[in-house]
Amino acid sequence: MALTGLQIQKLLPKTNCKECGSNTCLAFAMKLAAKKAELSECPYASDEAKKILGAASEPPVKGIALGPDKKLKLGEETVLYRHEKTFVNQTALAIDISDTDKPEAIEKTLKSVSDYLLERVGEELRVDMVSVTDKSGDPAKFAAVCKKAYDTTKRPLVIRSQNVQSLAAAAVAVKGSNSVIASANPKTAVELIRIAKENEHALAVTAPNLDDLSALAAVIKEGGFNNIILNFETFSLAEQFQANSIARRAALKDSFKPFGYPTLKFIDGGDDFDIAGDAINEITKYGGICVLPKFDAAMLVSLMTLRLNIYTDPQKPIQVEPKIYAIGEPDKNSPVFLTTNFSLTYFIVSGEIENSGTNAWLVVPECEGMSVLTAWAAGKFSGASIAKFIKGINLEEQVATRQIIIPGYVAQISGELEESLPGWKVVVGPQEAADIESFVKARLK
Ligand code: SF4
Repeated sequence: MALTGLQIQKLLPKTNCKECGSNTCLAFAMKLAAKKAELSECPYASDEAKKILGAASEPPVKGIALGPDKKLKLGEETVLYRHEKTFVNQTALAIDISDTDKPEAIEKTLKSVSDYLLERVGEELRVDMVSVTDKSGDPAKFAAVCKKAYDTTKRPLVIRSQNVQSLAAAAVAVKGSNSVIASANPKTAVELIRIAKENEHALAVTAPNLDDLSALAAVIKEGGFNNIILNFETFSLAEQFQANSIARRAALKDSFKPFGYPTLKFIDGGDDFDIAGDAINEITKYGGICVLPKFDAAMLVSLMTLRLNIYTDPQKPIQVEPKIYAIGEPDKNSPVFLTTNFSLTYFIVSGEIENSGTNAWLVVPECEGMSVLTAWAAGKFSGASIAKFIKGINLEEQVATRQIIIPGYVAQISGELEESLPGWKVVVGPQEAADIESFVKARLK
């Protein structure tokens, strides 16, 4: 039977030393109960705690941290379907280069990876990793390209070769990047585990079928190395879909530890349709790292947008900070608009105000990330709460205007807002953000 957080806390030292990254032993115990942490993160766990909690306290899909600052996280998933709870760590997207590519082509791709930035609903989305494939068979050349990729982008790498010497040279060259060595098979595993350990990289493991792969992962884990990533040997989209699904289901539903690791998929070719299909499969069906064969900005927009949607916690809407925003270059006499801090609402409303060509202030109170009508129905967007927020941010000192334009959908709060904000006039604006431009032209210009 699974232990509760309180039961687990009784087994911990209760010194609240914070070395596990949690503020208290109880907070850490709660994470263990939710399988979002591992007991090994507490250096002071007693033998009794280890014995009782043991493997049962590990997350069903192990968390792997990559990158020089270990900020790129993989795994730690606890549910099969997003609607059950949430997915935790999104599929990392990597762009592949080969060590036989022309230096100008390598330079160009690395620059594109470094520069790529997609801003969406307040999130900054970037390429997560670079994959370097050894086609030269020359360890020195391969290691030099890996080093260049890391030095240029400061992204963790997927270091891919069939040649142990090449992997060893590259692993040393990018030590400190916390990258992924790909991929160990039953014949090369012993040597590559040593190389991965010495240079602090994760190790991808592969085998011709799922049985052999699970056996290999189990042996490696029993040997004390747990920084593992699964690289299924598949030859079609259907096979990959099946392998990802079987492994995730086995890890989550059957607590089958050899499949309790993030995965790695190389998309090696095909037309854009094939590449997009494979990548979508990884994003929607449990992929850990998805290596794309080329840099394609347009495809990245689609994939990152999809990924953002899949990995956004449905219980926690994306929010913007509650405050007053300047749209354009407003002065003290510029109009004041009001909306909620649901990110999508904020960006649509601010975009439409900008499109209208007017400079304005946009007041965004705390509404727990709800849209206008939902916030109002939940009592988070009432006249009294908005007035309290406006007084709290000292809006009256920032603007001389005493007129606030509220969303048309909540016209009913205008009376209460006027009562709570003496001296202010409340103007009911349009219901739809798309009508802001015509509203501005008709009423404010
Ligand atoms: S490291 Fe261990 S003792 Fe320290 S706060 Fe975390 S759980 Fe408690």
